[in-house]
Amino acid sequence: MNAWQVLSVRPVGPEPTPPPEFGGPTVLVFPADQLGETLAGATAAAFGASLLGRITDMAHDRGDLVATRSSHGGRVAIDIRPDSQLAVATANVLPECDGEIELGAPETLSIDRTAIADQSVALESAPVVLGGGRGLDDAGFRQLETIAGLVGGAVGASLPAIDLGLAPVSRQVGQSGKFVTPRVYLAVGLSGTPQHLAGIGSATRLLAINNDPDAAIFQFAEAGVMADARSLLPVLAKVIEERLGAAK
Ligand SMILES: Cc1cc2nc3c(=O)[nH]c(=O)nc-3n(C[C@H](O)[C@H](O)[C@H](O)COP(=O)(O)OP(=O)(O)OC[C@H]3O[C@@H](n4cnc5c(N)ncnc54)[C@H](O)[C@@H]3O)c2cc1C
Repeated sequence: MNAWQVLSVRPVGPEPTPPPEFGGPTVLVFPADQLGETLAGATAAAFGASLLGRITDMAHDRGDLVATRSSHGGRVAIDIRPDSQLAVATANVLPECDGEIELGAPETLSIDRTAIADQSVALESAPVVLGGGRGLDDAGFRQLETIAGLVGGAVGASLPAIDLGLAPVSRQVGQSGKFVTPRVYLAVGLSGTPQHLAGIGSATRLLAINNDPDAAIFQFAEAGVMADARSLLPVLAKVIEERLGAAK
């Protein structure tokens, strides 16, 4: 059985509710990998279920189901009470829960695939990675994508940036994310925590853009620019585009 075929159904309440009725609040838990995240989103959309994201725990509280999510780089735990009968989540380790039922794979399954442009360069094998942190916003991440497209690189992100929805979880670099070994890693709006730097190979040349002169990233970077990334990234993209155009 493939990993994504294992669905954990968790009936809640004094009496576990047997499938297929799905009478009580039920959570479908998918593995927290790329396919699991995709299937969780598609399942939630198809069935109008609550999407809980990546959960770390699940419990019963007076008949309610309470799922726990980690946020702010692990500093905050958020308890979520789904407001629908069906919820969908992903988890690295399936939380302990009584009444677990394993479902077989559906007889037919069709998945519509949509090409995602930024997946053309894999994060793990990219020669250049542009890592974005909490110091960026949506527009900042779009700028990183533009620059990555110009230089044949990939965009990475810190855990808080992912928690903020600025990048998909598949782009997380660090202790609990991916390990990358590009020739150059440009850290933008990243403070330089050990948990993030743990995901960057020691032979990688680290460059940084940060608006705080005391940011720890400057202690580890080979070169750094103290600047507001919101102003600098568009200029950087323009300069790279012009240089590449002139070199053709
Ligand atoms: C068990 C555990 C595992 C973890 N695993 C990971 C992991 O895998 N990866 C990971 O990244 N984190 C991980 N973390 C979280 C980690 O501890 C930090 O919270 C996180 O790395 C900080 O991310 P950040 O640098 O984006 O945010 P911050 O520390 O908030 O830094 C944001 C930076 O942006 C700068 N900035 C703000 N505005 C601007 C601007 N306009 N222009 C330029 N710079 C700006 C600020 O000066 C600041 O330095 C983990 C934590 C725990 C407890």
